[in-house]
Amino acid sequence: MWDFSTDPEFQQKLDWMDAFIRDEVEPLELVWGGKVHQGLKGDLRPIIEPLKDKVKEQGLWACHLGAELGGQGYGQLKLALMNELIGRSHLASFVFGCQAPDTGNAEIIAMFGTEDQKKRYLEPLLDGRCFSAFSMTEQTGGADPRTFKCAAFPDGDGWIIRGEKYFTSNADIADFLIVMAVTDPDADPRRRMSMFLVPTDTPGIEILRNVATMGERSGQGHHAHIRYNDVKVGGDALLGERGGAFAVSQARLGGGRIHHAMRTVAAVNLAFDMMCERALSREVYGGRPLASKQLVQATIADCHIQIQQFRLMILHTAWLIDQSSTKDARTQIAMCKVAAARVFHDVVYKAMHLHGALGVSSDTPLARLWQQAPLMGIMDGPTEVHQSSIARRLLADHEPSPTEWPTQYLPHRREAARAKYAGPAPT
Ligand SMILES: Cc1cc2nc3c(=O)[nH]c(=O)nc-3n(C[C@H](O)[C@H](O)[C@H](O)COP(=O)(O)OP(=O)(O)OC[C@H]3O[C@@H](n4cnc5c(N)ncnc54)[C@H](O)[C@@H]3O)c2cc1C
Repeated sequence: MWDFSTDPEFQQKLDWMDAFIRDEVEPLELVWGGKVHQGLKGDLRPIIEPLKDKVKEQGLWACHLGAELGGQGYGQLKLALMNELIGRSHLASFVFGCQAPDTGNAEIIAMFGTEDQKKRYLEPLLDGRCFSAFSMTEQTGGADPRTFKCAAFPDGDGWIIRGEKYFTSNADIADFLIVMAVTDPDADPRRRMSMFLVPTDTPGIEILRNVATMGERSGQGHHAHIRYNDVKVGGDALLGERGGAFAVSQARLGGGRIHHAMRTVAAVNLAFDMMCERALSREVYGGRPLASKQLVQATIADCHIQIQQFRLMILHTAWLIDQSSTKDARTQIAMCKVAAARVFHDVVYKAMHLHGALGVSSDTPLARLWQQAPLMGIMDGPTEVHQSSIARRLLADHEPSPTEWPTQYLPHRREAARAKYAGPAPT
């Protein structure tokens, strides 16, 4: 059965979220700006906590997890509709308890953690009482984990972690890190690494720098370059089985990628709404609005088509995950990841361009969005890597032609059709 409607009861929740984000959350971000990131641990907390309570009262807190994993259990399709609103504001995901990278981290602890690990790390994470970071990428090459050098060596009942990680987002506010380290260098490449849960106050963890991305001041970014100086952890720090980091990271990145794509719908809708408002408001030669120009109309139509294709692909992927699993929907998730970077780039650029000088100033949200555009095709794996994995899986469902001619070669097909129906050849 195909159905594109939202059930009225859930629509009421979405309407509440829409108004709440617009009236309570977005203004906060305007006042606190760049302090939002660190503020949750400091002076912003007394303002954030009552907002979180309101979200919890509505049963909308931490909706990314299924009920069996400790979440609300709405499923991914409803989460997609929620994220279309949450993605309008960076702060909103914190207020709704579904901020990256904590969502993905919570998922893997829920999936792979022991009961003790869940009590120690997952419960406070879901309650919004702590933050986490995912420490995987190394300077040697993030897209290819086979190049990773950071290693963990057995030490009595526990492990000693030694090496460096690059671009560990949010490590500066995290209470614990999930670290991927080589434990079995001679094993099959997919079984070489293990995942560890490491509290950030463990001796030996050294944040060398907080790397800034475009638009942030050097040294004041949130992506840590970390050195693990013989960091000693117990045997109970191992998340999942020894050598199982690859499977854990795939599970994590799958969920993280689709959630990010869902939030991207909100960002491109914002840029699109701004584009339409500008087209209707700005008058050019002879007092006619930009919207009357056919080239502008084509831009608006094309952007809408692109957004709508993207949104439907996400909703379909979310539905697929609800029907089976993140693993079964990995091709569709990769498609959403690739599309997200493109739609985001194209729509934000066109919205910015239509705003002229104002568009390239820092006086509208478009400047912040534009700074994110190049990041979108790199974080959670570069576009090309996802294109390759999509193509490999698609090609696995196809066969080479059994002859030197394509199976669709029309002269051969016509000949076969004539033989089947034994009719006279057309003159
Ligand atoms: C905003 C942001 C946040 C991030 N947060 C985290 C985090 O919290 N934790 C973490 O561990 N990492 C994080 N990362 C790192 C991210 O996962 C890596 O940057 C990403 O995997 C790419 O790795 P790399 O930067 O080493 O690029 P490389 O692997 O060097 O790739 C560079 C370029 O080479 C090309 N390329 C690479 N591989 C292929 C291929 N197979 N086929 C064709 N072309 C290819 C692509 O054009 C690619 O963009 C973050 C990155 C960003 C930008």
